[in-house]
Amino acid sequence: MFLHGFFISQLSVLIESESSFYNVYNPNKLYIHEHNGGNCLNILTDFYCIRSFCPLDRVLCLIFAAENCLRLAYKIKEIYYTLQGEGFHTGHAAVFCRFTGCNLWSGREEDRHKAICQFCDTDFVGTDGELGGKYSGEELVKQIRSLWPDDSTCFIVFTGGEPALQLDKELVDILHKENCYIAIETNGTIELPEGIDWVCMSPKAGTNLIVQSGNELKLVYPQVGMEPERFADWAFDYHFLQPMDCEEVEDYTSSAIRYIRANPKWKLSVQTHKVLGIQ
Ligand code: SF4
Repeated sequence: MFLHGFFISQLSVLIESESSFYNVYNPNKLYIHEHNGGNCLNILTDFYCIRSFCPLDRVLCLIFAAENCLRLAYKIKEIYYTLQGEGFHTGHAAVFCRFTGCNLWSGREEDRHKAICQFCDTDFVGTDGELGGKYSGEELVKQIRSLWPDDSTCFIVFTGGEPALQLDKELVDILHKENCYIAIETNGTIELPEGIDWVCMSPKAGTNLIVQSGNELKLVYPQVGMEPERFADWAFDYHFLQPMDCEEVEDYTSSAIRYIRANPKWKLSVQTHKVLGIQ
């Protein structure tokens, strides 16, 4: 009974707020997140993907999305144990948990040209990666914790896709109870839940940045309209330039080094996992 009522109420909210779903980083969407404690944010990614790219009619899309909500599941592309390859924690052992879905690109190559973020090098579609699937909060924390080799504090990096589409306070609290240190790599367009221990924000051109403070600002360089000067005074503990991984990466690396030599507030972030050939 409860779930049925819950379903109907969610469907109503979705229909009433439909306009906000065309721009999934519109703060209006957070209404559902706040209203239901977070797990229903899965609706947004599903709705966004389906509504944008499939010919099903609107009601079917909404039902599909709401049905997913009822599972109260986090959608995970993959979970694996590795070393953090870039930014401040480079070389630190970490469990990476990659959430499915992003609000700046569908993840499909045929949509890249019309995506807000067009240089993505990550597969965040579906749940078919290593240990991917749909997890409850407890199941997810158990899986993450099981990959850490001992009883010490587990360093977990939430990434995506855009992890803030799904990460919520409920999951943060469970992780803290299980002695986890939580880092997030976010594009900064979605409000974050309280309690995250390390916020790394990587701004993307053409977006409205909501996360304007944190621990680490990692700017993929260069991006037109996202020059480093714009972020030099933002309230982050560390400022990194990370050369864009593309055919011009050598030129961009040289250019980033020149910039950092002239502006020593910035540091260089190299994607060492790619250099070393590790996951
Ligand atoms: S914001 Fe991040 S995950 Fe999303 S498309 Fe851009 S690089 Fe990829």
